[in-house]
Parts: sequence; C-alpha cells; structure tokens
Amino acid sequence: MTETRRRKPIDNWHGLYIGPGESCDVQLPVSESYSGLTLNIPIHIRRAPVDGPVVFITAALHGDEINGTGAIRQIIQDDALPLERGSLMLVPVLNLLGFDRHSRYLPDRRDLNRSFPGGANGTLASRMAHTIVDEIVSRCDFGIDLHTAAVRRTNFPSVRADLSDPQISRMAEAFGSEVIINGRGPNKSLRREACAAGCPTVVMEGGEVWKVEPGIVETAVRGIGNVLRELGMIGGKSDRPAYQLKIESTKWVRAEMGGFLRFHFSPGDIIEKGQPLATNTTLLGRHRSVLTAPFDSVVIGMTTLPAISPGEPVCHLGRLPKGTKPADLLRIRARKAGLDERVVDELSTNVLVVEHTPEDEG
Ligand SMILES: [Zn+2]
Repeated sequence: MTETRRRKPIDNWHGLYIGPGESCDVQLPVSESYSGLTLNIPIHIRRAPVDGPVVFITAALHGDEINGTGAIRQIIQDDALPLERGSLMLVPVLNLLGFDRHSRYLPDRRDLNRSFPGGANGTLASRMAHTIVDEIVSRCDFGIDLHTAAVRRTNFPSVRADLSDPQISRMAEAFGSEVIINGRGPNKSLRREACAAGCPTVVMEGGEVWKVEPGIVETAVRGIGNVLRELGMIGGKSDRPAYQLKIESTKWVRAEMGGFLRFHFSPGDIIEKGQPLATNTTLLGRHRSVLTAPFDSVVIGMTTLPAISPGEPVCHLGRLPKGTKPADLLRIRARKAGLDERVVDELSTNVLVVEHTPEDEG
C-alpha cells in the first residue's frame, strides 16, 4: 500500500456513509447524453467488517468487451468472494456510452482507454477519464481492469503487468494465469496512469468482444479471488496454474498472401519453432502457403476470421522465456487438466482447428 498517497475515503460516497460490513450501490455521474440525461456509472461498494486495502475491479472500459462485466456481475450477485478485510469498488461498465452502442469507442470515436488521466476541461473522453480517476482510482490502493481481444479476435486469458514494480509483480503472479505479459501498458491507458498515480493495477485480457464466455468469467473470478487472497482480504486457498510464463516479447504473425485459412492451433497452445500455424488456401481449397511459428511460443491471441489479406494479423505469439522447453510445458499441462486446459478447448470451438496434414503442403 502506498502510504504517502492521499486518497478519498471509501466509507463516504458524497455524504452517504458506508459502515464496516456494509455494501452499497452508488452512482457516479460521468457525462450527459445528447438529450440532456445524466449518465451514471453504477458502482457496487463493499466494505469488510475489518479495514484493509481498497481495490477497484473494472470492466468494459472498451464498451464492447463485456466478459469482465459478466465476471463482476457474478461477484456482486453470488457473493462469490466473501470479504474479510478491506473494501471493493466493483464497476461492471466504465465506458457507458460505448457499452450502449456495443462499441469499443466513445461516440466521437475516441478511445477512453487512451485518454487517462484526463482533465476537467478537456474532450468528452478526457473529462470522463478525469472523473474515473478522481472518484474511483483515488479511493483505491490497487486495481484490476478486465478486457478482451479486439473485434474479430480472441485472446487466451493473460495478465498484463509492469513486472519491474514489486507490488504489481506480486499481484500479477498471484492472479494465477498461465501467461503474464510484461509491460507498462499503452500511453494514457487507465492501467498505466493508475500505476503512475501510486495505485498498482493489472489488466486481464481474455476471450472475445460481445460475449460473456463461461471459461473466461471463471478465470477472471478465480484470478480476482487469488489477488484478494494475496492482499489478505479473503480467506481460502489459491488455485495455482500448471505453470506460469512471464513473456517479455510478443509478435503478430501476419498473412503473406490473400486467401482462406485452415488453422492448426488454438489460443493458449504451446507451439514449437517452425510448427505450422495455418494453411492459406484459395476459396476452392487449393494450397497457397503455410504460416509457421518463428520461435518457441505460446498463442496469446488469434484472428477468428479465416478470410485474410496480406499483412493482416493471424496469430499473436508470446516468445517462451529462455530455457523453457515446449515439450516440458506440454507434459505438465497433460498432467494438470484444470481450468486453463478447459479454456483452450472452449476457445477453440469458435474456430475450426484441424491438424496439419500432407495435403496442406499442396
Ligand atoms: Zn480493451
């Protein structure tokens, strides 16, 4: 916890007192609609009987990324994480205007997650970001922001975190995803600016837009629980992944030719250098080319659209850390058969994945 950082109290929401052990639904006015209606972000504040860290859990900062919305709703409704210490600010939808249009962006096409920390006199996005920082981030000691892949793509659940910061690194490891991608995050993103303001924050990415996917929701709820347990806020035992890969560099493998793809991999798969990823064919199924993995890697994300033009992204690969052998990971995973393995199977039902055969070589 950052001792020097001055933050707003969690027990006082604009004059409404929230006592120890109490929960409360509150509203945060962030903007006004074209018809002059006030736009309120709904927030659930939950205080444990005993004081402790205050954590925000947010989703749909990109308005079409609603897997996190489903996860947060489950936490609110099922009381899945009974708090023993500290407080939670649960925010199922941050970008109300995007959410209402099933869109990543605000109505003026600005990206709210590239508008932090914002300002009181700036653009629509900048003002909204400013209110979010002032009323949510400034009340919290830690944050978890939930995202999905962009449109027409899917992501294997991963945590994005600045591993050079010991507190953030501790949260990221505790979350318990198989994949952690190291980095500070894009400029002007909520995560980066919250961290810079002294509120260690991590992002989870998983699944697709416009969906609430069971395995992704389960992964998010499990990970949030693991972090809260690490912070001493809930009891119980943490569920650890079969292995945890800290990824320092990633690469999008792109199509070299136009055509229609046969995929040979699923999100979350472990791939050896040179292994075929996808076969590009003509619409009549005639062989054009085979895309292969440039290094030993884990599949972080992929396109869900098999129709492709040169330069378009096919597969987002995370380079395996030095000394990590694909065969070892595959052996460990075969023994574990837990949630992460189930998510690989689940995500691969959204695309047709077929084995690479001699016919693919043309
Ligand atoms: Zn996002």
